[in-house]
Amino acid sequence: MADYIYPVARLIDCFRRLPGVGSKSAARMAFGVLEMSDEEAEEFRAAIKGVKEDVHRCSVCCNLCDGDKCAICSDTSRDGSVICVVEDSRTVAALERSNEYNGTYHVLGGVISPMNGITPDRLNVKELIGRLSGGVKEVIIATNPNIEGETTAVYLSKLIRPLGIKVTRLAYGVPVGADLEFADSETLARALEGRREF
Ligand code: ZN
Repeated sequence: MADYIYPVARLIDCFRRLPGVGSKSAARMAFGVLEMSDEEAEEFRAAIKGVKEDVHRCSVCCNLCDGDKCAICSDTSRDGSVICVVEDSRTVAALERSNEYNGTYHVLGGVISPMNGITPDRLNVKELIGRLSGGVKEVIIATNPNIEGETTAVYLSKLIRPLGIKVTRLAYGVPVGADLEFADSETLARALEGRREF
């Protein structure tokens, strides 16, 4: 970043750390910030501070929230006897957009990946098992359709089925290797409808 004076180079470097942002986009963003009014820039600063200070994990489902429980776990009209297990909060948002699901969720916080040193104890598996004594009838495993997602699904089904709870897996209308986050709502709705039992 030798082409820019230090404060600008520093901001460009910050933007570059974000996923999917290259040098050119980072520079465009930094210059966008330079053109902002003081109020707009302050809003950015406050928003970044806010997500770091106010966002934490729901005490029930480990989804992101800004209170003790997330809006879904607090909603008494949701069916608490069904838990849909997902990798991250972005998949919760994607499934919610499908408007097809009225159960609850459990956010694992990743998938089992021995290559990357992610073992089940690094995920929110204990929290999931802890929820299963409370009248849960079905666990839908909605990890992504790739090797790590499948490994995680098989691991969880082996853990949960002996407890006498039905374990299902989404039927995918989405291509193998794709991210659920980017699937359109109709595909996700069909995938939910066609889920199969383990
Ligand atoms: Zn929750």
